[in-house]
Amino acid sequence: MLQVAINGYGTIGKRVADAVREQPDMEVLGVAKTRPNFEAETAIQKGYPLYAAIEERADQFAEAGLEIAGQVEELVDEADVVVDATPSGIGAQNKELYEEYDTPALYQGGEDADVADVSFNARSNFSEAVDADHVRVVSCNTTGLSRVVAPLREAYGVEKVRATLVRRGGDPGQTSRGPINDILPNPVTVPSHHGPDVNTIFPDLDIDTLGMKVPATLMHMHSLNVTLEEDVDDTEVRELLADESRLFLIPEALAIDGSGKLKEYALDAGRPRGDLWENCIWEESISTVGRDLYLFQGIHQESDVVPENVDAIRAVTGLADAEESTTTTDDALGIGL
Ligand code: NAD
Repeated sequence: MLQVAINGYGTIGKRVADAVREQPDMEVLGVAKTRPNFEAETAIQKGYPLYAAIEERADQFAEAGLEIAGQVEELVDEADVVVDATPSGIGAQNKELYEEYDTPALYQGGEDADVADVSFNARSNFSEAVDADHVRVVSCNTTGLSRVVAPLREAYGVEKVRATLVRRGGDPGQTSRGPINDILPNPVTVPSHHGPDVNTIFPDLDIDTLGMKVPATLMHMHSLNVTLEEDVDDTEVRELLADESRLFLIPEALAIDGSGKLKEYALDAGRPRGDLWENCIWEESISTVGRDLYLFQGIHQESDVVPENVDAIRAVTGLADAEESTTTTDDALGIGL
């Protein structure tokens, strides 16, 4: 069994830990946190050995009645691979630690692309990460865009992508981001940085993105216009996208009119934390006008990168190829609504 360490046990880290635990070929060696809080307590309740990320603060765990298994250095030393899920910029600072113990590391989308040898999306460029020492799993938005662009490029060729990203102001637990009551062009400069991030996956893709932030916490919403290299009709594109395991085409009959009902649907379906690992594309929004394709998709920012992290673990350790890994991940998590 592959031994996986998770450094940073917040929104992404705790989900990756639970997803790793569900896999048949890997297990959670331990998780590291900087300070005790409800997530540290939950980690212990779930049976994840808890390590102190900052030595000087280690005593705080004992004072809070939480037993730690050791320091993060020991965890990194013993692990086959470490998933860094610390806040943006901290991953780059931690790189030295992973290099010191010669442990392959995954970073998250908040890090600059140059932190890693390769930026990763399982559907698009799994093989580029095979045996790499440092891999960045791209952001929730880039993951969502890459998953749609990959099959379109293969089937029809893509001349140009234009995407408007209506982004949630903060995650549900991110009280530091609020209260908010506004609609912000964000970033106000156009095109936004999201397009160049998609270019870390598809270097030759012509893509312009615009970003906004709205007072919502549940999900992002993308309005997408893709100019294809040939004329296609909507039915054909719907069939193409429906074949992708990580794209959920929301049937009109479900009467899901937005991210609120989508999250409710995920909770009703028994999804942990109401997570939606798939892009959620409104089926009736998939429309073509000549070579122009339009669609709306909801992206659950807290969870769409989780299966990607699991696949990236298999890529860097050479445990499986793209197809075997994604199938195993999807089966273990129950992906495919
Ligand atoms: P978070 O704040 O919810 O969790 C980060 C965790 O790391 C916290 O528990 C924090 O205490 C801990 N931490 C801080 N400094 C640390 C250190 N030096 N060592 C170990 N742990 C430390 O953040 P998050 O939302 O999970 O984001 C993590 C990364 O994932 C970022 O790069 C972010 O951009 C990316 N990401 C976030 C989302 C999202 O919507 N939340 C989506 C995709 C990618």
